[in-house]
Amino acid sequence: MPELPEVETVRRGLEPALVGARFARVTLRRPNLRFPFPERFAERLEGRTVTDLSRRAKYLTAGLDSGETLIMHLGMSGRFDVALPDGRNLSPGDFYLEGALGVPKHDHVVMAMGTGATVTYNDVRRFGFMDLVPTGDLAACRHFAGMGIEPLSAALTGEAIARLFRHKITPLKSALLDQRLIAGLGNIYVCEALHRAGLHPETPAGVLARTDGRPTPKAKLLARVIGQVLTEAVAAGGSTLRDYTHTDGTAGAFQHAFRVYDRTGAACTRPGCGGTVARIVQSGRSTFYCAACQPGAGRIPAR
Ligand SMILES: [Zn+2]
Repeated sequence: MPELPEVETVRRGLEPALVGARFARVTLRRPNLRFPFPERFAERLEGRTVTDLSRRAKYLTAGLDSGETLIMHLGMSGRFDVALPDGRNLSPGDFYLEGALGVPKHDHVVMAMGTGATVTYNDVRRFGFMDLVPTGDLAACRHFAGMGIEPLSAALTGEAIARLFRHKITPLKSALLDQRLIAGLGNIYVCEALHRAGLHPETPAGVLARTDGRPTPKAKLLARVIGQVLTEAVAAGGSTLRDYTHTDGTAGAFQHAFRVYDRTGAACTRPGCGGTVARIVQSGRSTFYCAACQPGAGRIPAR
């Protein structure tokens, strides 16, 4: 499943093909993806120019000169293929082969742009979706209402973490995955960030706030390393975009850089640590951490 850095990599890859370009012809090959397409979807896109392409959590948002915004979610296996007028073919952030590359039956939306480029949405499992909402209502629309702060932005600070986690006794891992608090962080990057911050995943989230509500040093550190982990992953996705090939459909570009995720039994990579990566299950999902440098739940190590 594409996580936030992969979606950001896709956004950067699509930007030159979409922004400033007009939808000349939009072809839907089926009536729905995960949800039905919006009413008169193709008509509402055709003739419209894309003014900007942004990302909110794991959603792509393309602003249109009609005053509507096209929302796109990649689901489990969604990917875009960009055929440029000069014959070059790009698949921005193409981390998922699953045998689908070049299989037309999984090409569900074909967008012919006025520039001559063709942007094709391909989705084997069809958990992705597209929607159109008035741009003025974007923040309140059903996809974004109640959504937490954006982790790859200046909004994620130690102060914000302290404010959101104060008085919470839920484990840090669960609090970080709660989309109503911080939106778009997935299992992999939460494990990686907690390791870098030296925080045990079962630590009650509230300990990151002092009694007066101000952030602890660990809250500030956690905010910083979340940004670092995501930024590094985006950079890795971008740099390997051209020549990255998969055989098993599961690997991601950032995988080589994981310090704890899926490394059960391996030596901790923190210099001088000497610990071993362990796996526990929280809320039905695997958590990977190092018991040596992410010690005991319920207290903050004085590292
Ligand atoms: Zn360690």
